[in-house]
Amino acid sequence: MKDCIFCKIVRNEIPSYTVYEDDIVKAFLDISQGTPGHTLVIPKKHIANIFDYDEELASAVFDRIPKIARAVKASNPDIKGMNILNNNGQVAYQSVFHSHFHLVPRYTSNDDFKMIFKDNSNKYSPEQLKAIQESIEQHMGD
Ligand code: 5GP
Ligand code: ZN
Repeated sequence: MKDCIFCKIVRNEIPSYTVYEDDIVKAFLDISQGTPGHTLVIPKKHIANIFDYDEELASAVFDRIPKIARAVKASNPDIKGMNILNNNGQVAYQSVFHSHFHLVPRYTSNDDFKMIFKDNSNKYSPEQLKAIQESIEQHMGD
C-alpha cells in the first residue's frame, strides 16, 4: 500500500527503531512510547485488521510475538508485566489501518497505561447470553 505509514516503515522509507524483523514481521518502537519499550509488531504484508488474516499469516505472526515480548521484558529489569493489545476499527481506537499488536511493558499498576473492563454481568439474563453465544457459534467459519 503506497500511502500506508507502516508499509513505508516496512520498506524503510520512514525510519524506525526496529528491534526485530524477518520475512514475515517487523517489530519496532511505537513513536508514542506509552511506557518505555512500547513496541509494535506488524505483519510485513499489508493487512488492515484482525478480520483480514488468513490462518497461515495469523499463525506466523502470533508465532513470533512471545519471543519479541520476552526480549522486550528482558531489556529492562524494571518491567514486571506486559499488556498486548490489538485495536480493530476506528471505534476500537485503531488509528493506523495496517494491523499491529502493541506490546506495552508495565512497570507499575499505576504507569501511563489504563484499560477499563466494566462488569456488566448484571445486565444480561442467561437467555440473552445463550442467544449471543449461539449467534457467534453460527458464524464460525464465515
Ligand atoms: P492504533 O491506535 O492504531 O492501535 O496504534 C497506532 C500506533 O502507531 C500509535 O500508538 C502511534 O503512536 C503509532 N505510530 C503512528 N505513526 C507512527 C510512526 O510513524 N512511527 C512509529 N514508530 N509509530 C507510529
Ligand atoms: Zn500497510
